[in-house]
Amino acid sequence: MTEADTISSRLARMRERIRAVAVRAGRDPDAVQLLPVSKTFGEAAIREAVAAGARRFGENKAQEMRSKYEPLIDCGIEWVMIGHLQTNKAKDVARIASEIQSLDRMDLAMALDRRLQKEGRAMDALVQIKTSTEPSKYGLPPEELPEFLRRVARETPTLRVRGLMTLAINAPDQDAVRACFRTLRELRDRVREEGIGNVELERLSMGMSGDFEIAIEEGSTEVRIGTAIFGGRVYGDSYYWPEDQAVR
Ligand SMILES: *Cc1c(COP(=O)(O)O)cnc(C)c1O
Repeated sequence: MTEADTISSRLARMRERIRAVAVRAGRDPDAVQLLPVSKTFGEAAIREAVAAGARRFGENKAQEMRSKYEPLIDCGIEWVMIGHLQTNKAKDVARIASEIQSLDRMDLAMALDRRLQKEGRAMDALVQIKTSTEPSKYGLPPEELPEFLRRVARETPTLRVRGLMTLAINAPDQDAVRACFRTLRELRDRVREEGIGNVELERLSMGMSGDFEIAIEEGSTEVRIGTAIFGGRVYGDSYYWPEDQAVR
């Protein structure tokens, strides 16, 4: 492994690239956070990232997050759920995660709220929005967001909605990718203006290893980066997005 190939050097380089893109886009470089995505990577890799200053990590599967939680408890990690979550896995996320970015339906919000009440805690949440026409993407349809926010504010008091999250279309067409990110930002701006559900929606989690530059140009406040920090994954992404839904 060369120096340029360590997790800590890739993290440092990614932080620089994020800042550079933000500055080029006329944005405050401190306004774009990096969320390293550690899915499929084990304890050693995560400890290396922790040593390089990372504290929050995104995981796509509740079981995987749970299996990493105990062995890494000394690191003081804030685990962030970013993947599709089945309602029957809400318990683990309510116990372990510091926030969820893949809140996409009311029955999940209610399951999380029940568990969070039991744990006596609250959790930050981003609402995942489906901004792409791909049949494969999870997420709430944009037009359903206002009513969803009203219901969350009313019915699930332990969830504090802080913003929106999306996955762009997985396609070489940069304009199509940009359109997804723009849809998310414009939706946020509209809902904000209307003051729906009394939430700020200050955060926009959008952008991954392959499209984070476009996402920052379109207003991302947080990019979720796996491959560019930890390297390629052993499992194909169909492991994370079931075969009939596989896109990445
Ligand atoms: C895996 C994953 C990412 C990171 O993807 P990379 O292309 O490896 O950077 C971002 N968001 C979600 C929801 C993911 O599951």
